[in-house]
Amino acid sequence: MNEPFTPEQVRYLEGLTAGIRLSRQQTAPPDPASVSQPGALQAAHLAAAVRGETLTAEELMKRERHPLDRFDELAQRANRGEFPKAGDVFMTKYFGLFHTSPAQDGFMCRMRLPGGFISSTQLAGVAELTERLAGGYAHVTTRANLQVRQVGAQHTVKLLEALDQLHISTQGSGADNVRNITASPLSGIDPLELIDVRPFCKTMDFRIRTTRDLYALPRKFNIAFDGGGAISCVSETNDLAFVAERNDEGYVHFRVLLGGITGHGDLAADTRITVLPDQVIDFAVSVLNVFIQHGDRGDRKQARLKYVIERLGLPAVIAAIEADFERPILRSAPSSCVVQPTNRTAHIGIHPQQQAGLNYAGVCLTGGRLTTEQMRGLAELADRFGSGSLALTVWQNIIVRDLPDDAIHAFQAGLAALGLATTASSFAAGMIACTGNQGCRFANADTKAHAQVLTSFLEQNIADRGVLNIHLTGCPNSCAQHRIGDIGLLGTRIIVGDDDIEGYHLFLGGGYGSFARIGESFVADIPVAALNPTVQALIESVMSHANPNETFAGVVARLEARQLALIKSMLTKRLATQGMNQGMPALTAKPSLSSAGVVS
Ligand code: SF4
Repeated sequence: MNEPFTPEQVRYLEGLTAGIRLSRQQTAPPDPASVSQPGALQAAHLAAAVRGETLTAEELMKRERHPLDRFDELAQRANRGEFPKAGDVFMTKYFGLFHTSPAQDGFMCRMRLPGGFISSTQLAGVAELTERLAGGYAHVTTRANLQVRQVGAQHTVKLLEALDQLHISTQGSGADNVRNITASPLSGIDPLELIDVRPFCKTMDFRIRTTRDLYALPRKFNIAFDGGGAISCVSETNDLAFVAERNDEGYVHFRVLLGGITGHGDLAADTRITVLPDQVIDFAVSVLNVFIQHGDRGDRKQARLKYVIERLGLPAVIAAIEADFERPILRSAPSSCVVQPTNRTAHIGIHPQQQAGLNYAGVCLTGGRLTTEQMRGLAELADRFGSGSLALTVWQNIIVRDLPDDAIHAFQAGLAALGLATTASSFAAGMIACTGNQGCRFANADTKAHAQVLTSFLEQNIADRGVLNIHLTGCPNSCAQHRIGDIGLLGTRIIVGDDDIEGYHLFLGGGYGSFARIGESFVADIPVAALNPTVQALIESVMSHANPNETFAGVVARLEARQLALIKSMLTKRLATQGMNQGMPALTAKPSLSSAGVVS
């Protein structure tokens, strides 16, 4: 696998790719003698050639010079105060730096925080860096991670060096890499958990960062470790997920899910494969090796594990993983394990830990935005009242761990001074929003602002009937996973007369865990001015069918098709009426502006 290409192989590959290079006005093809790529990439390109795939421009760039060998280019641009251009924009993402022009004239820097776990020292350090080198705030992402934005062209190296001193890596947090590992955020403190998955997150992250061959992926790849606790990390949305279970004999093992990608309409399939805890990392590496070898190198929209499974079939993919794993794969019967229940509200509020006398505090951050002062204050509170240990969640909230019983009141007072709280309406607690057009060039709508306004509107105009997740995502790249929200909102552009306005398509019926389903399109082309009353009408209409203590998701899952059709019809009529009331001509949607974009 580590042998260089033979001259015949190089000629074959160059012949295959020359036409597309010319058509895309690429610069001269890479000199084969200068190709210094890891064996995995060469083998993958050869396999792609055999499949008849023409390498994309990104694959050719990777061959030309390994992305991780390009730090000198990044440093030179920083010295000159320049932003990257053309292919360098993609290559810079290997270091976690995203040039966000034209949405913002700066870089977004995405970190790696395995499992979302972060210490008070790290959080205070990030706060200082956002103030000194970035825009004075950070976003908590749906991969339980932090992003800082508005980093100046001259500040990139200083920022990466400072993060390194905080033991925070950014390597491989963007582009074609394994992204931030997600995990149960209560690992090690949850009374319900089956296994503490923090060690798996750290080891997996370290293995990825230190193995050159694992940088040869055709596209991004998501991994989750679910220890079976109260708070879900939406395992089924990942390319690869390990979900803890206890078997009949009392041992904890991991069940393997493969191929999740909600933006492409699929949850991960339960393979019925089980992996013992001491073999999990090697198994994950084998899955990655199979993805590297068989992933599509000619079409980036098809270059995810889901499409390898569709092309080869799940049995063949599992056989390839087993061959790479070099050990027999264990399989379990469907009835042999008990899946732990999750608590959809446990990520907010004060809850007892497995350690007697200690509690964790789930702090609500609607839309996932943290100011410098809030980060600094949270770090200080975690130090003063807890153990200095915090965790970000895929619900864009933050958990402060290890708070003694008698410190809760003072801790909450400290939070209030920061404008934060451990209490929140169901609307605020369950509101998820991607970056939107405040910082992402793919966005069709200002998702974060709309999420804030929608939250306030619902709090003022509708009874809080319990858990409700609303996910606002700005484009089909689906960073906020609108298709697993109870209500999913996908940003779009709508033509109204001569105007091109922001709007949303509404999805219904999505969910995760025991309600794991992909939401379906319900109402299209809602102008942003009509968004709040439309969502209100939907919630009120659905909950008019609710039994006592029944959740929105439960009602939607129970309603018959004809009942849902009536609700849909009512919403569509209301929308038309609102349009006339506002003097708007008939609405005509145009295709999503960002449908052609592939964010990396
Ligand atoms: Fe940007 Fe689209 Fe991702 Fe939102 S979903 S952050 S608009 S790429």
